[in-house]
Amino acid sequence: MNTTAIVRPVETTWRAKPTLEGAGVRLERAFGFSEVPRLDPFLLLDTFHSANPEDYRKGFPWHPHRGIETITYVLDGDVEHGDSLGNRGLISAGDVQWMTAGSGIIHQEMPKGNRLGEMWGFQLWSNLPARSKMMDPRYQELKQAEIPVVKTPEGASVRVVAGTLGDVEGPVREIVTDPEFLDVSLPAGATWSHPVKRGHTVFAFVVEGTGHFEGGRDALERGPATLASSAGTLVLYAQGDSVTVVTDKQPVRFLLVAGKPLGEPVAWYGPVVMNTQEELRTAFREFEAGTFVKRGQSRPA
Ligand code: FE
Repeated sequence: MNTTAIVRPVETTWRAKPTLEGAGVRLERAFGFSEVPRLDPFLLLDTFHSANPEDYRKGFPWHPHRGIETITYVLDGDVEHGDSLGNRGLISAGDVQWMTAGSGIIHQEMPKGNRLGEMWGFQLWSNLPARSKMMDPRYQELKQAEIPVVKTPEGASVRVVAGTLGDVEGPVREIVTDPEFLDVSLPAGATWSHPVKRGHTVFAFVVEGTGHFEGGRDALERGPATLASSAGTLVLYAQGDSVTVVTDKQPVRFLLVAGKPLGEPVAWYGPVVMNTQEELRTAFREFEAGTFVKRGQSRPA
């Protein structure tokens, strides 16, 4: 048995890139199709952050999903959501919608911003294993007040969406990839360590500020430029049992996301991700024929 706990080193970092998506939404893509299978089980991470409604108001009109989960996390503004099951609702500041598309959902997602026209949020796609791709669609929708905030002795403030921190378990549960989804705010001059499961894929995405994502205080002593990651940076971790993030003169806010890799073939076209090309052809044939949705109401007129 290997009992030596390893602090995960950073494997690599890169910056999110400007991308046009949906009906013409300007966003930044931290990773997507080109990175498969590096972040397995995660497929895509987009961040949309703008004070100009022209950047986002065209939104993501009616489109299908199959074979994946889409996780929408809003920091500011509203996203209007509607789907083929007849669900309607708003995802507002601090809310999370963890949507398991499974066998198929047709939905639309329309960012509306706040009163000042500001919109800020994230969408993460997580893959489903072959045995769960055709499961019944399911939502876990959490309002801001339902997501616990843990204050640690190191001064960190952590919103626990999924996974555990100390004895606090996040409200999103029973997800097949056993994910962890934390929104971590760390003040200047702090050190924060967090255990992660060995074998899981772990990444951080820097939301605001600057942090050192590798090692302890000695990381800072190697020089201010060493491994400092600022807003818009994706930090992909190598293997190990924990992560340690250190701040110097600036605070940092980041998403820490972990999940169990699937190790399966990925066949991906647009909003549908299956294991084989044949399954993709079936999905789009069914979409054309109006038989895509296996459960719930048909596409609204
Ligand atoms: Fe969608």
